[in-house]
Amino acid sequence: AKRAGRGTYRYYTEALTQAAQVRLQLDTRLRRALARQEFELWYQPLYRLHDRRLIGLEALVRLHQPGLPPVGPAEFIPVLEDTGHIVALGEWVTNEACRQGRAWLDEGLDFGRIAVNISSVEMQRGGTVARVQRALDTHGLAAEYLELEITESGLMQQGDHSEAFLHSLRAMGVQLAIDDFGTGYSSLAHLKRFPVGKLKIDRGFIRDLMTDSADAQLVHAMVAMGRSLGISVLAEGVETEEQMRHLRDIGCEAAQGYFFGRPAPAATARQWLNPAGTE
Ligand code: C2E
Ligand code: CA
Ligand code: CA
Ligand code: CA
Repeated sequence: AKRAGRGTYRYYTEALTQAAQVRLQLDTRLRRALARQEFELWYQPLYRLHDRRLIGLEALVRLHQPGLPPVGPAEFIPVLEDTGHIVALGEWVTNEACRQGRAWLDEGLDFGRIAVNISSVEMQRGGTVARVQRALDTHGLAAEYLELEITESGLMQQGDHSEAFLHSLRAMGVQLAIDDFGTGYSSLAHLKRFPVGKLKIDRGFIRDLMTDSADAQLVHAMVAMGRSLGISVLAEGVETEEQMRHLRDIGCEAAQGYFFGRPAPAATARQWLNPAGTE
């Protein structure tokens, strides 16, 4: 038994060392990519359901390095959060989204709003409000074109600080959305205090919407709650026409997901945009 114990211990140590090494390699790769500006923004369309009009684009960061194994944001964002480099990435993302928005407006194209994801680590580290203002100023973009998405769990972890953070962003005129809604245990009391214009229902509730009656009831309740608070509700991860119709019929205002369009580079997203002044 003793021998088996020692063997198990060694196995764990080796596994941990290996995991730490993989992480370290990824960290090095990410720092280099930041310095060389190798990140790219892709965009996914957000549609209003009753008339299928494009109301916005969510900016999603990508890292394409030929010759290196592909790595997605779900894997690299947590590493950047641990090292604090998420602050530098967030600054680049916000700036690039504002630059792109300005360029489209100059072409007479209407994208509604560009939504940028803000990590709770950025909120915690401070300076984010000033960085957002600087990005808007640099590109001469009016604040109402920018929407910032912060996860419900991130907001809940930081209580009063979140409330103050959201209020200073709102005072600048940017729009605010609660991301991954339904997974972070906020209450009606929180929602009333947060100056947010949108709730994004987490994809996890939409996936089995047509077969799981508990999910269907929860989605219904979230839509009703948004309504009663005067907050617009968007469903994430809509993949089928059936889901889209159901959501529209229960009064969900907007949706996003593979059914409407996958994230794509700016040149592709450009083709989804409306000519300015058509609404
Ligand atoms: P998120 O903010 O919840 O973004 C939505 C994710 O769901 C995206 O994954 C998107 O590609 C994916 N998605 C959209 N529609 C569908 C669908 O119909 N079905 C399925 N299965 N998936 C769908 P992605 O781009 O891999 O991003 C993953 C997460 O990484 C994001 O989740 C967000 O938390 C984070 N992230 C991405 N870009 C940024 C960024 O610029 N800054 C920060 N802080 N986080 C980011
Ligand atoms: Ca998001
Ligand atoms: Ca989300
Ligand atoms: Ca998410």
